Amino acid sequence: MKASRFFVSTLKEAPADAEVVSHQLMTRAGMIKKLGAGIYTYMPMGLRVIRKVEAIVREEMNRAGAVECAMPVVQPSELWQETGRFEKMGPELLRIQDRHARDFVIQPTSEEVVTDIARQELRSYKQLPKNLYQIQTKFRDERRPRFGLMRGREFTMKDAYSFDRDQAGAKASYQAMAEAYRRIFDRFGLTYRAVAADSGAIGGDLSEEFQVIAATGEDAIVYCPTSDYAANMEKAESAPPAGPRPAASQPRTLTPTPGKATCADVAGLLGVPLARTVKSLVLATDELNEAGEAVGVRVWLLLLRGDHDMNEIKVSKVPGLDNGFRFATVPEIEEHFGAKPGYLGPLDLKKPVRIVADREVAVMADWICGANQEGHHITGVNWGRDLPEPEAVADLRNVVAGDPSPDGRGELTIERGIEVGHVFYLGTKYSKAMNATFLGEDGKPAHFEMGCYGIGVTRLPAAAIEQNHDERGIIWPDAIAPFTVVLCPIGMDRSQEVKAAAEKLYEELLAAGVDVLLDDRGERPGAMFADWELIGVPHRVVLSDRGLKEGQVEYQHRRDSSATKVGAGDILAYVK
Ligand code: ATP
Ligand code: MG
Ligand code: MG
Ligand code: MG
Repeated sequence: MKASRFFVSTLKEAPADAEVVSHQLMTRAGMIKKLGAGIYTYMPMGLRVIRKVEAIVREEMNRAGAVECAMPVVQPSELWQETGRFEKMGPELLRIQDRHARDFVIQPTSEEVVTDIARQELRSYKQLPKNLYQIQTKFRDERRPRFGLMRGREFTMKDAYSFDRDQAGAKASYQAMAEAYRRIFDRFGLTYRAVAADSGAIGGDLSEEFQVIAATGEDAIVYCPTSDYAANMEKAESAPPAGPRPAASQPRTLTPTPGKATCADVAGLLGVPLARTVKSLVLATDELNEAGEAVGVRVWLLLLRGDHDMNEIKVSKVPGLDNGFRFATVPEIEEHFGAKPGYLGPLDLKKPVRIVADREVAVMADWICGANQEGHHITGVNWGRDLPEPEAVADLRNVVAGDPSPDGRGELTIERGIEVGHVFYLGTKYSKAMNATFLGEDGKPAHFEMGCYGIGVTRLPAAAIEQNHDERGIIWPDAIAPFTVVLCPIGMDRSQEVKAAAEKLYEELLAAGVDVLLDDRGERPGAMFADWELIGVPHRVVLSDRGLKEGQVEYQHRRDSSATKVGAGDILAYVK
């Protein structure tokens, strides 16, 4: 490609709404152009990156035995009614009507359509397993579209769906995808972590996110440097935390009247000392109802009056609880305990919560009373360690760095990540809802066992930039750079020697299969170098009269601080 014919349009200033560096740099480098909130044109320079991402994804999906198709972006609502998602999905699902006032959706993902294909086309167990994927436009009416391609409303996702005859098959399909994902993210040349993610009502461990590590990531990742534990925050919060647990032989059910449990009941259940002075503690329940959903445990947490007025203690807002905590006095509790303690709650404990006070308070185990009408109970209490001062308290999540890890092999560390991929075992959730069956070996119809697997194709370049940039611009990993090499001839319009050498090297590199761009725009060296440093082409070769007289060109990797003189004929070894 020659720059004079290509579309190079760089900007000095980033747009005012670009908060993160990838958004700033992609806009300045002329890779994307905003059309509306969360809606971008992929400009030629940006599209080259996206196409390279797609090519790697496609190659590895094919290698793993998945088969490509393309499902419609605009989908009739009927299928979405079958699973209930037409209503359930809420405002993220973009619904439109045609001229006959029929409802349609713009696909945010495609479980319904692919399950419809399977129930029509896959009739027998002999046709299984199958994995169908597409690399297609998606639309999600995100509440806060931001950060450019990172959280767009229109974006490209690779979504794959596996169909198996039984659970064992589905798990094998899931593992094959998880392995393919590792190969894909290895090839991108990014630092990433595969972390356990919440598998929702289905349970089990078969949900992992692939997170590119970056300080600006929207997700918190909890991992343990001394073991292989790694989970996203949601998962880390929902797993029962470590710490004293009731011994198996102990009764696990409290008297179902809140506030009426005895000291012995609760201390026995929780296996904790009666009172501790703490700033924080975690309460957890892993009780599930028959549908596999977490059931709430109603908890009153009583904090003993110390040398301060209980009403002055501030407690951090607990994520997921709209009502938060407040101090109050409840005659019932006063009567039961014969004291006027401050207390928090009641709160419905559906997942573990960390409670953080702005100063040390005494907490009595026997006054953490938990039981609801069905007799569900608290299953874990993790006495907290000292935490930062109140200003930081508002930001604290339920799991904090330094907590013991769930596998008991070290302390937890928290870092931030960008979710670029997600593999998920679905079970029969969609096949049952849509009555998608095949004939089993026993001649009876059975529901497909499914999995779904997504990669944020257009989010990935943004994640790559968050991880690879400097003050001058982007530094692309070779695998997804818009061009691998840029040839920068100096004075090409003046010097026949430079022009001839540049054209010759350009042809040689092209012939060797190198993705090379020749900058023949006639820009001054400073402006030309600044453009390619901003755009982030990893390898640069400068040709000048002076160098060519000695038979040399200057090679510089985007990460190098200075150039290396290289024989014009030897450049291939540097860029391939
Ligand atoms: P997030 O938690 O960031 O909202 P998600 O969990 O809703 O993502 P999935 O449904 O798992 O996303 O979709 C698969 C992949 O699609 C994600 O891992 C992510 O890489 C990508 N993706 C999701 N939403 C967006 C978006 N708004 N813009 C760009 N890519 C997205
Ligand atoms: Mg989302
Ligand atoms: Mg997510
Ligand atoms: Mg996800």
